[in-house]
Amino acid sequence: MKKDRFHFATAVLRWFDDHGRKTLPWQQDITPYRVWVSEIMLQQTQVATVIPYYERFLARFPDVQTLADAPVDDVLHLWTGLGYYARARNLQKAAQVLVAQFGGEFPATVDEVATLPGIGRSTAGAILSLSRQQRAVILDGNVKRVLARFHAVAETGPAQERILWPLAEQHTPEQRVHHFNQAMMDLGATVCMRTRPACLLCPLQPACTALAEGTPTAYPGKKATKALPEKSTTLLVLLNAEGEVLLEQRPSSGIWGGLWSFPETAAADDATLKLVLKEEWALKRPHPEWLPERGHTFSHYHLRMRPVLIRKAAPAQVCDRAQRWCRLDALPALGLPAPIKQMLGELAVQLRGDQ
Ligand code: SF4
Repeated sequence: MKKDRFHFATAVLRWFDDHGRKTLPWQQDITPYRVWVSEIMLQQTQVATVIPYYERFLARFPDVQTLADAPVDDVLHLWTGLGYYARARNLQKAAQVLVAQFGGEFPATVDEVATLPGIGRSTAGAILSLSRQQRAVILDGNVKRVLARFHAVAETGPAQERILWPLAEQHTPEQRVHHFNQAMMDLGATVCMRTRPACLLCPLQPACTALAEGTPTAYPGKKATKALPEKSTTLLVLLNAEGEVLLEQRPSSGIWGGLWSFPETAAADDATLKLVLKEEWALKRPHPEWLPERGHTFSHYHLRMRPVLIRKAAPAQVCDRAQRWCRLDALPALGLPAPIKQMLGELAVQLRGDQ
């Protein structure tokens, strides 16, 4: 069918009535706050993973004010395992801006909402359309894929955005925009999937250019992938005589910002490490035990971690507020990166076996 005879929004809304998701937790008791938290959690994470995190987060922080007032450790603790922790830090910063500048309410326009930390134009559009039924356009990763295929847009990066925003604007209806936007996100997530689009089930198939060309997955174009650089670090797993482990809070910006992890050093061999432990940690006769290496891939580099266990450590200078001894069998409610949480669990098992 020719595109000019195909009514995009009507087809999408009909599909939504029959197949759209309507029972997700953030689709009940809808408020801008509840939609906002869900949109941020869903940015890099699948719905099924998000749901339990979302429910715990909303139980602890039911509104903007509670989130703004909370200790950052509580926020990061409830984010542990979701990754991309800047999202959690920005969520709290934005809550504080909402309280300080907007009386705890979301402002009325996309432009104003998009000034909040961690909220871009598409997320702002989703918040206002889904919660207040305002006509606002969205263009998240799922919607980009649907539109890029429907219109056969091969461009990537900023050029792709320049082409797709006007198309998204053109297709977004005046009425039922909240259903339309939800349907577009659902279509991208459940039908027009990245590797195996289910075109036979798609309401757009009568006029989809990529399908007509027989190459849906050729769109959107692929960005050239660069090999990730590798970095390495030594993690000091310091245990005191009580069997507690020393954790250190990382700086608030950067990788794992504000989360708690093991202290680190660049020392990569036994001799250098012993020197570091003597000079920087005041340990007289350290016996480091190297544990198996492990890796973790961030969006822009791969990290090789060399954990090293040092028993009976009680470094004199551990009095900094950013360091604390923690019992392995009762870890405090802190934000922990997933690989560190896993290592702590394994260490607890190992130490129980050593007893
Ligand atoms: S017809 Fe296929 S490629 Fe086109 S939008 Fe639908 S699922 Fe995507």
